[in-house]
Amino acid sequence: MERYNFREIEKKWQDFWQHTRSFNVSMDSAKPKYYCLEMFPYPSGKIHMGHVRNYTIADVYARFKMMQGFNVLHPIGFDAFGQPAENAAIKNKSHPSLWTYRCIDFMRQELKHMGFSYDWEREVSTCAPDYYRWNQWIFLKMYERGLAYKKEAIVNWCPSCETTLANEEVIDGKCWRCKKDVEQKDLEQWFLKITAYQERLLNDLDKLINWPGRVVAMQKNWIGKSEGVEIYFKIKGLDDVITVFTTRVDTIFGATYVVLAPEHPLVKKLVSGKTQEKEVMEFAQKVAKESKVVRSASDVKKEGVFTGAYAINPVNQEEIPIWVADYVLMEYGSGAVMAVPTHDQRDFLFTKEHKLAMRIVIQSSKPQPLAEMNEAYEGDGVQVNSAQFDGLANQEAKKKIAEWMEQKKIGKRTVNWRLRDWLVSRQRYWGTPIPMIYCDKCGLVPVPEHDLPVVLPEKAEFTGEGGNPLLKVKEFVNTTCPKCKGVARRETDTMATFIDSSWYFLRYCSPKLDTAAFDKKEAAYWIPVDQYIGGIEHAVLHLLYSRFFTKFLKDVGMINFDEPFINLLTQGMVLKEGEVMSKSKGNIVEPDGIIKNYGADALRLYILFAAPPEIEMNWDDRAIEGAFRFLNRVWRLLDTQNLKLKEKTLEKRKELIRKTHLTIKEVSEDIQGFKFNTAIANIMELVNTIYQNIDSDIEEAVKAVIILLSSICPHVCEEMWQLLGNKESVLKAPWPKFDPALIQEEKINWVVQVNGKVRSNIETPHDISEEKLKTLILSDERVKTWMNNQPIKKFILVPKKLVNIVI
Ligand SMILES: [Zn+2]
Ligand SMILES: [Zn+2]
Repeated sequence: MERYNFREIEKKWQDFWQHTRSFNVSMDSAKPKYYCLEMFPYPSGKIHMGHVRNYTIADVYARFKMMQGFNVLHPIGFDAFGQPAENAAIKNKSHPSLWTYRCIDFMRQELKHMGFSYDWEREVSTCAPDYYRWNQWIFLKMYERGLAYKKEAIVNWCPSCETTLANEEVIDGKCWRCKKDVEQKDLEQWFLKITAYQERLLNDLDKLINWPGRVVAMQKNWIGKSEGVEIYFKIKGLDDVITVFTTRVDTIFGATYVVLAPEHPLVKKLVSGKTQEKEVMEFAQKVAKESKVVRSASDVKKEGVFTGAYAINPVNQEEIPIWVADYVLMEYGSGAVMAVPTHDQRDFLFTKEHKLAMRIVIQSSKPQPLAEMNEAYEGDGVQVNSAQFDGLANQEAKKKIAEWMEQKKIGKRTVNWRLRDWLVSRQRYWGTPIPMIYCDKCGLVPVPEHDLPVVLPEKAEFTGEGGNPLLKVKEFVNTTCPKCKGVARRETDTMATFIDSSWYFLRYCSPKLDTAAFDKKEAAYWIPVDQYIGGIEHAVLHLLYSRFFTKFLKDVGMINFDEPFINLLTQGMVLKEGEVMSKSKGNIVEPDGIIKNYGADALRLYILFAAPPEIEMNWDDRAIEGAFRFLNRVWRLLDTQNLKLKEKTLEKRKELIRKTHLTIKEVSEDIQGFKFNTAIANIMELVNTIYQNIDSDIEEAVKAVIILLSSICPHVCEEMWQLLGNKESVLKAPWPKFDPALIQEEKINWVVQVNGKVRSNIETPHDISEEKLKTLILSDERVKTWMNNQPIKKFILVPKKLVNIVI
C-alpha cells in the first residue's frame, strides 16, 4: 500500500483555506463568539518546536470550537520590536526593520505550512507605526492621569544590552534576555504607576479561577501585600528617626539591634566622624555593586558592620546597636529592619556570626533555654519578656501591642507592598519612541495627540558604539515645542517592548482601524479572550502587565471588562534528551525539516501525543515515525471503505458501534479538557477496532475517526472527507454526537497487576465504583495467591483499564 502524499495534500488544503477565507471572521450576533489566542512570537528568524507546540494546542482548540458552532477569532501577529533585531543590524551593518520584516515573512510562511487556522487578515506587527502610535496614545493617556512619570532612581542596568530593565525583567539577578548579571545605576527614567492598581491586581486574582494556580500564586507573591506595623526608633544623640516595618510586632521586645541597608540615607550621618566611618562607607560602596538577588538569597552568608551608633527601642527604651548589612534592601519596606534573632532565622544566623545579643520573647510549647537554641523559633507561642503583654498568645499580642503603640505614637499599623512601579524607558533604537518633548522654557511637554505617531527615523546608524543611535539623529532629536513653538528636543528613550504586548489582543479586534487603538464595539463583542495559551515564563511579566493595561483601559472607558484572559493554559517546554533545545548545545530539531519529511499533520499529531500540554515533553526522533505510520494506517481505511461501498449488504457489528460512540464521547471530553494525548490514544483504539471488524460495515466509524481527528491533523482529514464524497470542508461537519444508550452496556475487562506484573483479568460493568472493584479484585483467587496476605501499599487505578496493587 502506498503512503499518502502529504506534500500535495497539505499544500492543496492550505490553499483551499486561504481561497475560501475559511478562518476570516467578523462579528455575528447569531453565533456565540470564542476568542482563542496564543502568545504571539518574537520574529527571531524561524519558528521553533516551542512555537509549534504552543500553536498546535491553540489550533486544535480553535478548530474544535469552530466545529462546535462558535464564531472563533483566532489571530496571530508579531511582537516585532526589541533588541535582537538591533543587535543583528549592528552585526550585519544593516537596519533592524529590514531584519525584522525578513524574519516575519519567513515565519509567516512556516506558520502557514503548519496549517494553523489563523485569520491572516488580522495580522499585526508591533513595529509598524500604525500599531505603535497607539502605544504612544495609551502612554499619553496615562501621563494625563499621572500614571506615567519620570524620576531619578536606582535602577537595574544590563551592561550587555546597554539598557535599563524593569524589576520583572531581572530574574535571579540576571537580565531576562541575555542572562548576564544586572548592575544598579542611578538614572532618570520613565515609570508607569502600576502600584496605583496593586489592590485591584491582587483582589481580582480571585476571579481567575481558570488560571493555573502556580501563575496566580506567582503574581500574588510578586505584588506582595503584607500587613504589619511601622515602628519608629529614635537614634541616640541625634534627632533623626529610623522607621522600620515588621509583620511580627509581637517580637518587638526581642529586638536586639537594628540593621540599615547600605544605601540608607542615614548611614553617612550615623558614622560621620566616628572610628567606624571608613570601614562602613567602604562596605556600603562594595555592597551597592552586588546583585540584589544574591544579597537576599537565603543560602548566602550575610555580611555586615557596626556603625558605632545606637537606636532606642521605643517599647522599653533599651539602647541597641545599629548595623549596616547586605541582606537589607533599600527598596523593600524602608531600607531598615529590627533584628529579632530568636524568632527570625536570617537574624539568628547573622547574630551567631557577629556575636550579638539575643532574647526569647515567644515561648513555644516545648520551651528551650537560649543557650541551646540552634535555630530561630518562628512559630506561634506565648509572650515572655514582653512587659505587660507577658502570658498572651502571640497572635493576640500582635493586635494589643499594635494598638498600644499607636496610642503612644511610637508605631502605626500599615500595609506594605512588594510591587514597584514599572520602569519602561529603554536606551535603544528599536522600540516605540516615548512621545515627550523637552523645552527649556516650558519643561516637559507631551506630544499632542494629533501629532502621533512619533515615527522612528529610518536614517540611523547602527555601530554598536555610543549608546542609543537615536541620540545622533539630529532630524529626530531637534524639534519645536508644541506649546511655545521654540527650539526643543525629543525624548530619545524608547518604550519597553512589554508595553507593545500589553494590549495587542485588543488590536486584533480591529487591526486596520486608524482612528483609535481598537473599535469599542468590536472589542465588546470579542473580548475577553476565552482561551489564552503561552509560556509560564510570562507569569509576572506579560501576564501582569496585560492585566494592568486592561484595568487602565477600562478606567478610561475603552472597554467594559477588567480581566483580559478568562482561561489560561501554560504549555510545557520541548526538550531533547532532557535538555532545552539550544544552538549552543547543538540539539535543535527544526520544525521545517520535520514538515518536509513527514508533513505538518504528523508533526502536529506527534507533538500532542507525546505528553499532556502542561508538562515538558521530550522530543524523540523515532516517535515522529510512529505518528506518520499511524496517519498512513488511517489513510488506508479509506481504500477499504471505498471498496466496500460497492458491496451491498454488510452487517453492522455491535462492538464497533459501541466503540465508535464511546470514542466520540471520550475524545470530545478529552479535547474540551486539553487532554490531547488521551484523545489521540482513544482515536488510535477506535482505528484498531475498525481493523478488527474490517469485514463489516465500518462507514460510521471511519467518518467518526476523520471528524474527531480533523482538528489535530486537518489536512489529511479534509482530503479523506472529500474522498468520501463530501462537498464541504470537514470544518463544516457538525461535531459528532454519541448515543448514551449505545455505550451503556459496555463491560470493562480490567487487567490486574500485582507489583506491576499481570496476574489476573476481571470483567465488570462499566460503571463499577472503585470500592466495589477493589473488593472484587481482592477476592479473586489468583490475586490472593500473588498477594500472599501482604498489606497493600498502593492501589493504583488506570480508569477503565488497569489496576496495579503494590505490596
Ligand atoms: Zn541583557
Ligand atoms: Zn516651550
